[in-house]
Amino acid sequence: MYEFDANMDTNNTAKLEFAVQMTCDSCANAVKDVLHKEPGVQSVHIDLAKEEVLVETALTSLQVQSLIESTGRRAVLKGMGSSETDLGSAVAMLSGTGPVQGVVRFLQLSKDRCLIDGTIDGLTPGAHGFHVHELGDLTQDCTSCGDHFNPFAKQHGAPQDSERHLGDLGNITAGPDGRASFRFEDSQIKVWDVIGRSLVVDSGEDDLGRGSHPLSKITGNSGERLACGIIARSAGLFQNPKQICACDGVTLWEERDRPIAGKGRKVTDTPAAHL
Ligand SMILES: [Zn+2]
Repeated sequence: MYEFDANMDTNNTAKLEFAVQMTCDSCANAVKDVLHKEPGVQSVHIDLAKEEVLVETALTSLQVQSLIESTGRRAVLKGMGSSETDLGSAVAMLSGTGPVQGVVRFLQLSKDRCLIDGTIDGLTPGAHGFHVHELGDLTQDCTSCGDHFNPFAKQHGAPQDSERHLGDLGNITAGPDGRASFRFEDSQIKVWDVIGRSLVVDSGEDDLGRGSHPLSKITGNSGERLACGIIARSAGLFQNPKQICACDGVTLWEERDRPIAGKGRKVTDTPAAHL
């Protein structure tokens, strides 16, 4: 075991469990060193035999994955947990009819704090409305997801407003490369209330209920639904014993369409970019 602990406020951290291809001490040391140097990393525990890296951090899962992969090894996020009691976690794989796709994770840190961590690719640069919708129904793509999740019959608003739909998560912002990578907390969403519902990212910016358009108080006038996914219960830390082969070039985005092993998995013309 390789361990490293920094003195840091753990109030804002989560534990991320990665499967990492490591076959030797020097591999493990390289991973440890790169994480050790990063100020946002609270602790690192590496189990070489299990090819497992547990990182306690305030960074996004993508940032940690990129750090690990900067050592030349593939990393796959296997689970996410809180530093204290684990109150549940969920995941949504987003896709639509266009190029937009992503993975978003929810982790309940305490009764009033839900951590939301994700990466969405294929967006136009800029702000995009981001909401939990009432229904986990994708039978007609994202149009069958229903309205913003609103159990208390409120008006549309900003995440920090008391007058908001429970599902109102505001905007996420894509960079020039079309990727939005984010990590934030919400005080109203609870993992157990959103499992089985859906998560949707929209084409335009959510005006947070402050616009003059008639839809402002209903949807934030954030345009059409680009991609959506059902929010499903996910593994907590060490609850996912499945060994993920990170060596066959199947990217995270392709993973959902492939069997986990056997015939039909390997179609590898392009190298894995975002495992
Ligand atoms: Zn809303």
